Amino acid sequence: MNWLAPGKTAAVVVTLDDLAPHKKEDGADFGGDGESGQLRFLCRLLKEVPWLRITGFVIPDTTFVGHNPTRRWVKYLPESMQDRVWGSKPIRPGTYRLDKYPEFVWLLHSVLRMEYALHGLHHAHPGLLTGHEYQLQSSWDIQRNLAEGSSILTRSGLKWVRGFCPPYFATPPNLVTALEDMGFDYLMSSRDLFTEVRLDAKSNMSGLKDVDLYRPQLLRNGLVHIPTNFQATSTRRRAFDIIEAGGLLSVKIHMSKITFGYTALDGLDDLYVNYLSSLFHELRYRYSDSIWWTTPLELARQTRFHAC
Ligand SMILES: [Zn+2]
Repeated sequence: MNWLAPGKTAAVVVTLDDLAPHKKEDGADFGGDGESGQLRFLCRLLKEVPWLRITGFVIPDTTFVGHNPTRRWVKYLPESMQDRVWGSKPIRPGTYRLDKYPEFVWLLHSVLRMEYALHGLHHAHPGLLTGHEYQLQSSWDIQRNLAEGSSILTRSGLKWVRGFCPPYFATPPNLVTALEDMGFDYLMSSRDLFTEVRLDAKSNMSGLKDVDLYRPQLLRNGLVHIPTNFQATSTRRRAFDIIEAGGLLSVKIHMSKITFGYTALDGLDDLYVNYLSSLFHELRYRYSDSIWWTTPLELARQTRFHAC
């Protein structure tokens, strides 16, 4: 199926996870420290690559405190209880609710060529998988969760699009059903950094499996799946292979570099900005106007258009 814009032979999309008013002094800078913090790297990348657009996934009300559970005794509880006891004491809901931080929303709007979409509601869950917000909930419970997250973003005044990336790419079937039924435009829910580059290859690492890894894929009810296949640890060769195969190069960035003591390999820092900046300039030099530098929303629209 063709999913590209007219005249283009491959595409590049860049997304960034974990935007929230949370600050470094609270354990992680999800953008809350403004231009004196992690946001300065994002601004530098956009300045150095002036044709680039980035989609940022926003946590409406983060209660996340890291993915290493501090209450390790939870694993000794009966299995039926593990899903109800918090592996780490979460932040009180409402503490970082986006509509309480108009100055942060203003800051997000001040960064040019950014688009925003939804990244869970709290980015947290009871049990030992503390950041995997979507696990065994019913489709109805997930719909309520998504409706609350959507409502917070809208109340905050943030301009956002109906796209979704689940925390840790964790995507149970009930989440896909809920997004399809609620009319979301796209879901970004698989990450695979290793599978050989072939246009018909399927994703087989984090998140949804058996979905296309190097091109968008139409699911039910107009929902389009967009894969992730590149990050800071990926080679330049992988990027060239994807472009030369006529695929979608989909780059993931994480806003925070150090998150509650954990160092993210794909967290923003000077090195990652240097790498992406030089890679994107080389892609443009090598392949000129044949690359479609786009966004997940445009990809979803174009994929649906071709499917009509
Ligand atoms: Zn996240």
